[in-house]
Formats: sequence, C-alpha cells, structure tokens
Amino acid sequence: MARFGIMGGTFDPVHYAHTSLAIATAKQLGLDFVLMMPAYIQPFKRNQDVSNEAHRVNMLNLAIETEGRDLLRLSDYELSLGGISYTYDTIMHFKETNPKDDIWFIMGSDSFVKINEWHRGEELLKSCNFAVGTRPTNDIDKVRADVEDFNRILPGEVVLIDKLMLPISSTMVRNAVMEDKPISGMVTPLVEEYIYENKLYI
Ligand code: NAP
Repeated sequence: MARFGIMGGTFDPVHYAHTSLAIATAKQLGLDFVLMMPAYIQPFKRNQDVSNEAHRVNMLNLAIETEGRDLLRLSDYELSLGGISYTYDTIMHFKETNPKDDIWFIMGSDSFVKINEWHRGEELLKSCNFAVGTRPTNDIDKVRADVEDFNRILPGEVVLIDKLMLPISSTMVRNAVMEDKPISGMVTPLVEEYIYENKLYI
C-alpha cells in the first residue's frame, strides 16, 4: 500500500512555494511521493491566458530536478485527458486505479476554504484526504477553525501543514518579469533561465 500526494496546479510558472508545500507535506505526513499535476484547463481559469502546457511541464521538470529530492514526480494525467480538469474526476480515477492506497490532495488554504464551489465539491471533500498549506498572510486561526470543522464531518482527514509557505504567487512572478524586476527569490535558477530564454510573461 502506498501513501501519496497529488498536488494539482496551473503552475504558470511553478515557484518555490509550490515545491516547498509538496515537500513539507510529504515529510510531515510520511508520503512515499507527490505527483505534481498540471491542469490542462483549470475550471476557474477558462477565460484566462495561460502558458501552453509544454512550457508549464518544462518548468515543472526543471523545478523538480532542483527541488524534488526524490519525492516529487510529474504527472501528465490531466494534460493527457485534455478539456477542463476537474479535481473530483481526477481523484476518482486515482482511487479506482489505486484502491488500496492512501491519497492526499495537496492545496493552499485560499483554495481549500472555497472548495465547496468546485465541481462536485461536497463529493470531492468526501473522496480523499487533504493537506492544506498556509502563508503568513493568511488568518491562520480562521483556517485552523475551518479545518477542525471539516474534520468533524468528513470521513477522511484534513491536515494543516505546519510549515508556513512563502507569500509567493505565480501572478507575482509574472508581474515581476513584466516589470523587469528580479525573480530569483521566487523560482529556481533553472526556471528563471527558462522564463527568460523563452521570453515568457513579457
Ligand atoms: P496554482 O495557482 O498553480 O497553485 C497550485 C496550488 O499551490 C494551489 O492549491 C495554491 O493554493 C497553492 N499555492 C500557491 N502558492 C502558495 C503559497 N504561497 N502558499 C501556499 N499555497 C500556495 O494552481 P490553481 O490554478 O490554484 O489550481 C490548483 C488545483 O485546483 C488544480 O489542480 C486545479 O485544477 C484545481 N481546481 C479545481 C477546480 C474544480 O475542480 N472545479 C476549481 C479550481 C481549481 P492557493 O489557492 O492558496 O493559492
């Protein structure tokens, strides 16, 4: 029986908080590995300009190479399906194909507190365990209270990840590139080089 995480994302681009949340979760929960899974189309970003999947995958591979430490693996499951990537459908697929495994969906608290608004949100909440990462800018007491409420009613577990994440977002990285500001504290050197070489976000 394996115990693994799935961290879904748009990853446009992947940054230190993404890899650090995945690794912190793996360590805190003793996961065997974490699948880093780029969405083909993130349901709430249907009308947004997102870099093509080849760029997002290349950057993820570069970040995993530097930060992965054997724990992170790229999964192209949602990309290979195409269309809108609904997390509920993805979890159902992995549960069916790995019936004995313990599956954790890894996400930030901003998304977690609104998960009811997701496609089949209530069923999704009952379908697996959740690891929730927070940033220093979050109201941690409120997130903790929400997590406790969920734990009272859900069959699975919801765990708050102890390590606070850096307040980095992909939007910050893209804006910094547009404004010609440094991004070296936000993405790995190889990802930084990739962004400049491919003239992304300008
Ligand atoms: P993203 O922007 O690339 O972020 C990926 C994950 O990292 C998110 O959970 C995000 O949480 C977290 N994160 C980013 N920066 C963080 C930081 N500094 N500290 C802590 N956590 C941080 O990806 P996304 O566009 O939000 O999508 C995430 C996943 O949710 C994807 O798999 C997507 O398909 C799924 N999703 C599904 C539905 C649906 O099924 N209806 C709807 C929306 C999203 P935060 O939200 O806290 O930033």
